[in-house]
Amino acid sequence: MVAGIVAEIIAAGSELLTPFRLDSNSLYLTAELNALGVACRRKQVVGDRQEDLAGAMREALGRADLVFVTGGLGPTDDDVTRPAAAAATGAALVAEAGLAESLRRRFAARGWAMPERNLRQAERLDGAEILPNPNGSAPGQWLPLQRAALCLLPGPPRELRPMWAAEVAPRVQRWCAARGLAPVPLAARQLTVAGRPESAVDEIAAPIYGRYPEVETTILAASPGEIELHLRAPAPRSARLEALLAELAAALAPAVFTTSGEPLEAVVGARLRARGQTLAVAESCTGGLLAGRVTAVAGASDYFPGGVVSYGNEVKARELGVRRETLEAFGAVSAECAAEMAAGLRRRWGVDWALAITGIAGPGGGSAEKPVGTVFIALAGPETWRAEPEVQRCRLSGERDRIRRWSTTLALEALRQALGDGPAKPAR
Ligand code: AMP
Ligand code: MG
Repeated sequence: MVAGIVAEIIAAGSELLTPFRLDSNSLYLTAELNALGVACRRKQVVGDRQEDLAGAMREALGRADLVFVTGGLGPTDDDVTRPAAAAATGAALVAEAGLAESLRRRFAARGWAMPERNLRQAERLDGAEILPNPNGSAPGQWLPLQRAALCLLPGPPRELRPMWAAEVAPRVQRWCAARGLAPVPLAARQLTVAGRPESAVDEIAAPIYGRYPEVETTILAASPGEIELHLRAPAPRSARLEALLAELAAALAPAVFTTSGEPLEAVVGARLRARGQTLAVAESCTGGLLAGRVTAVAGASDYFPGGVVSYGNEVKARELGVRRETLEAFGAVSAECAAEMAAGLRRRWGVDWALAITGIAGPGGGSAEKPVGTVFIALAGPETWRAEPEVQRCRLSGERDRIRRWSTTLALEALRQALGDGPAKPAR
């Protein structure tokens, strides 16, 4: 990354300070800036108060080379980014006749008269370039100052993103070039592991990535049961990045299911398709979540005929053939029941593979012997693979949602391991 060029982001909007809205624009902008070789040093969320915003801009302009403000360019009283920018920079707001005209045309095209307050959107900071907004009424602005440049962008992501690509990215590149800095783009790779705790992954990974100081490595607990390793390095060092990726993949195999960010269900689906095999699912505590993940992949009908949501015992017995003695002796949450669910579904539906999940997702229903988070996952497969279903007993922690999602990950991972990387075997 370029040492000399530093960006800051200010997300304007009181709604971003409530529990209901997240600032996603800064994530997008950070990714785009990084791709151009510009680091983001600091970002902040500021409510719609003119003096607060002006203060934030003034401070950021005192520290950074590029300051991006998103939101607050609308026509309503709470949109104060323009006057705040004027106060922060000393640039006057000038009425722009051409802009007012294009706003009027925009309204006329929809058969509306333009409310007078929209004229605020036709105010340009003196010295700023207007960034056209083909997807909304709020144009952006690019204001070069003595040391830094200030860029105002609309809040709605569907307006901001196209504006970035068409108007802002080229200006950032020219801005850097004019300062004699050729930004160094970042290369990024990712590797995802299933069914291992974060600490166990780090124990294996840390001694390896410690030997690659030029690669920035971040370990993230992604969705429950999945750990992501993100690797980033300046593009000219991408050979080192690839070497680290290969070394990590080898050390963490066979738990690595993708190095391209592909979801686990897509990896499993691709393997089933390559083998010409089919999968069905029998779900108790996950109530269809596993089927939902499998069918989130386009084209899943090639290998997935469906599943049974066998939440109650009656359905387990009637639709899957779980024996009543099993339910009475061991209970619905048991290795025995999971095995009969999977074996029964596989036999009845004539599929190659059947996954079954039964467990206690909580918050109630736990006991000393089977506390909340106890989940049994069974996989039944071709006789050439195993005569009996493979059953794992898991002790998962956290809330109901987390336990349910985690269970589906462990089920898919069990199938992925069984399918292996090997060549397709003939279907039954
Ligand atoms: P504004 O330009 O402030 O009127 O914002 C219009 C809409 O854009 C808001 O209601 C949000 O839905 C969205 N928005 C504003 N800022 C952000 C942000 N930082 N991240 C994601 N969405 C945003
Ligand atoms: Mg707003």
